[in-house]
Amino acid sequence: MTVLVAGPDRIAAASVLSPRLELRVDTAVERLTTVQAAFPGAAIRYAVKANPQPALLRALVAAGAGCDVASPAEVGAALAAGARPEALLHSNPIARRDHLAVCGHLGVRTFVVDSASEVVKVADAVPGATVLARILTSGAGSDWPLSRKFGCASEHAVEILTAAAELGLHAGGVSFHVGSQQRDPLAWAAPIAAAAEVFGHLRARGLTPTVLDIGGGFPAHHEGAAPDLADYGHIIGGLVGESFGDLRPELVLEPGRGIVGDAGTLVATVIAVIQRGERRWVHLDAGVFTGLVETLEEAIRYRLETDRVGPVVPTVLAGPTCDSADVLYERIPVDLPDDLAEGDEVRFLSAGAYTSCYSTVGFNGFEPLTTVLV
Ligand SMILES: *Cc1c(COP(=O)(O)O)cnc(C)c1O
Repeated sequence: MTVLVAGPDRIAAASVLSPRLELRVDTAVERLTTVQAAFPGAAIRYAVKANPQPALLRALVAAGAGCDVASPAEVGAALAAGARPEALLHSNPIARRDHLAVCGHLGVRTFVVDSASEVVKVADAVPGATVLARILTSGAGSDWPLSRKFGCASEHAVEILTAAAELGLHAGGVSFHVGSQQRDPLAWAAPIAAAAEVFGHLRARGLTPTVLDIGGGFPAHHEGAAPDLADYGHIIGGLVGESFGDLRPELVLEPGRGIVGDAGTLVATVIAVIQRGERRWVHLDAGVFTGLVETLEEAIRYRLETDRVGPVVPTVLAGPTCDSADVLYERIPVDLPDDLAEGDEVRFLSAGAYTSCYSTVGFNGFEPLTTVLV
């Protein structure tokens, strides 16, 4: 990942650089502050995979966030940004044994698991660690569901946490993720209630779970409506109260998109405007393989901006490579100005998450996406 800092002498160079991700670290810190205010007392573990840009990590850590990490490299990035090892949460439920050991050596103490075999692995690799069991969610209500790959049934969570305790680990509590860009705060209701039941069963077995990790999923400002972060805090706080009563757990959040999404603008340039039959196609110098991977299946629909003001026409957007998958929006075309022309900028708003991190290798001779701090 190339990073340019837009100092006075480099602004000229940066302004012609296309495509680029313009990243506003201050905006990410403001979003973090908003999350902290919405969830008073909760531990915020920024999901590094959303955007691992070092200056961003440093600013978030300085503002009180820990990090949600999935690999030794992410642990290294978080520590280099100043994070305390105790403020790191290893949330990858399936990991290489040697990677778990390295994370343990680097000081990570809390690991998410969702299977009996991974509990044994953690017990071997990081003796005495704390584990959280990840339970399944439906993913309904989210634009980018994550539910199929990870998560176990609640009864299984009770069993694996009990087994963890027998292996000398600390059965810390429960974790889940309701799917990314989750537009419905009530999506947290079922997993919070399920987690409370798991806590109850564990207590009945003499264990002392304390941590409720409610994952990420908080939205950025993509196309379509979503509640404010304050509403999420209010509603989810109420759900925790209903399910847990006086035995309120320590809340952990793992926001990625909700913090860094709105902090970035992906700036692309029109290469060509082509009429193909009935449809206008606009080919850009950024596509699925240069940062816009979340447009696959048109899951994430970014808000778009250009400098033209004329009437709009439905437009298919495509990327620069020869791969036929490098088409952004075709099923539901986007409305872009009629007079859009070669050389014009098309700006993808709220594109700070899951863009620069996915384009570290150039494809078809097109450079990976460059980040410019603005
Ligand atoms: C990706 C991921 C996150 C961040 O999700 P967002 O929807 O970007 O907030 C949090 N936790 C886990 C385990 C993840 O895999």
